[in-house]
Amino acid sequence: MKRIRTRIAPSPTGYVHIGTLRTALFNYFFSRQHDGDFLIRIEDTDRERTVDGSIENLLDVLHQLGLENDEGPVLEKDGSITEKGDYGPYVQSERIEIYKEYALKLVAQGDAYYCFDAKEELDAMREAQRATKQRVKYDRRALKLSDEEVRAKLEAGEPYVIRMKVPEGETVVEDLIRGNITFNNEEVDDQILLKSDGYPTYHLAVVVDDSLMNITHVIRGEEWVPSTPKHVMLYKMLGFEAPVYAHVPLLLNPDKTKLSKRQGDVSVEDYLKKGYVKEALVNFVATLGFNPSGDREIFTIDELIDSFKLEKVNKAGAVLNKEKLDWMNNQYIRALDAEDFIERVEVFIGTRLDSEIMRRSLIIERSRIDRLDQVPELIEIYSADIDYDAAILVWKKGDSADAMMQLEGVKTFLEGQGENIFDSVESIEAAVKGYIAENNLQNGNVLWPLRISLSGREHSPSPFELLWALGKDEALKRIERAMGKL
Ligand code: GLU
Repeated sequence: MKRIRTRIAPSPTGYVHIGTLRTALFNYFFSRQHDGDFLIRIEDTDRERTVDGSIENLLDVLHQLGLENDEGPVLEKDGSITEKGDYGPYVQSERIEIYKEYALKLVAQGDAYYCFDAKEELDAMREAQRATKQRVKYDRRALKLSDEEVRAKLEAGEPYVIRMKVPEGETVVEDLIRGNITFNNEEVDDQILLKSDGYPTYHLAVVVDDSLMNITHVIRGEEWVPSTPKHVMLYKMLGFEAPVYAHVPLLLNPDKTKLSKRQGDVSVEDYLKKGYVKEALVNFVATLGFNPSGDREIFTIDELIDSFKLEKVNKAGAVLNKEKLDWMNNQYIRALDAEDFIERVEVFIGTRLDSEIMRRSLIIERSRIDRLDQVPELIEIYSADIDYDAAILVWKKGDSADAMMQLEGVKTFLEGQGENIFDSVESIEAAVKGYIAENNLQNGNVLWPLRISLSGREHSPSPFELLWALGKDEALKRIERAMGKL
């Protein structure tokens, strides 16, 4: 059996679209599942659309998410390879000569031809076709030129393009997700293969590269279906074996419109910057249009690799539901090992959080966050000298004198306790509740002012969590400060 090889072939347009990530994941899962290879190829033959820095950014994002390519030009200057991450992507603009060679081969064998048409001529041709309600496509006027005329024009250095000569008949695209799709070749334009600037178009470059790179499965977005018959024809003309195709459905907004192209909504790096953890992003994006098993939602990358099946990818568009992403991110954040969570927050906010108060506060707050970018605001109460209005210390069923008395009482109680009640939230809760019961006090009268004195906020974690995070000394300081305010 042939070694399975997949690739992603993004154009360097600046940022990594969430759809590109999904395609990357599907390709990655499929190749990993078959112990095959996953390649990255940059399709930058459209020079006008190329944005500087895109390639580095793409590699960085994929690397952060744990997707490494298995092959490519070696990045290290001395030629040594220590890890997978040392491979660069293949870059089409570095392979221009190769495509030209194949374009010329196609001309030589009569499957492609030179065209020297001026832009105005082509515009007029299309205009006339539209006016007479004909299909808009190249009318093959260049084929009227004799071999001598063509040679003379080439020798005179006239600019030219090379077009493929679409044969008559039908072309069947076999697609693992969509089944067979039959195209009438009459509907297919004589596609330009080589542009006047010497660069290939996407269509020529993709076929040449997928062939030379022995790509066995082309898994890509549905928007490429209409281009695929051209590719199938080119494979045939060049005597290459076509890969297996699988076109994955579009991503949609919740209102079922095509997913926005606005960078802020769809760029993977922006999601990472907002504090979506990599495992959640991978899980979420991988299950857009694919679900390994009916009712489960959370899958590790290894489970996704094992269970991925192209045949199980939905045909219908997949809706990108941000609430679900938030929910999933929260699930992952809660499940992280505490140390791992703290490290990720540190990387995220760019500072070390080495005080015990900070560490404990993070452990408390993490079940309340959907994204890591919510952390700085939530932990303010543990770090800053909190400021608040004394009025909020008073519980709705009490008054200021009662608040004062309760704080005094709980302070005395805490002062008399050993450090060990601060070992866990549960032990603190048991101790404080015991104190309330023994003294026949009301929960609200005690716990409300206590909690506000510790957090300075009407909405905050429970007083037991706060006591645990702040520790005895800081807690007593805050209670005293509150008493000073009353
Ligand atoms: N360069 C195309 C893109 O930007 C690649 C399409 C394909 O995978 O063939 O998406």
